[in-house]
Amino acid sequence: MERSKGKGQIPEILQIEVLFMEFPIRCFTCGGVVGHAYDEYKELIKEKSPQEALDILGFDRFCCRRMFLSHVELIESVMKYPRA
Ligand SMILES: [Zn+2]
Repeated sequence: MERSKGKGQIPEILQIEVLFMEFPIRCFTCGGVVGHAYDEYKELIKEKSPQEALDILGFDRFCCRRMFLSHVELIESVMKYPRA
């Protein structure tokens, strides 16, 4: 990956933050695939508790469960601001 220093590019430190704005595909700790279940999780928590939703989806490791519980959707807020 090429380092971005030029005008009009997102600085490297912010690019890392952009990566974490969307739900991760894999669990940071065990590497288990979690990204495919996020939409279903969002649907389930409309009616059930997050605990029940994660049990239904079959995520039993606490490292994978925290990926869902700790995720904050920031992409909508950030999209308001154009790239510099
Ligand atoms: Zn995990």
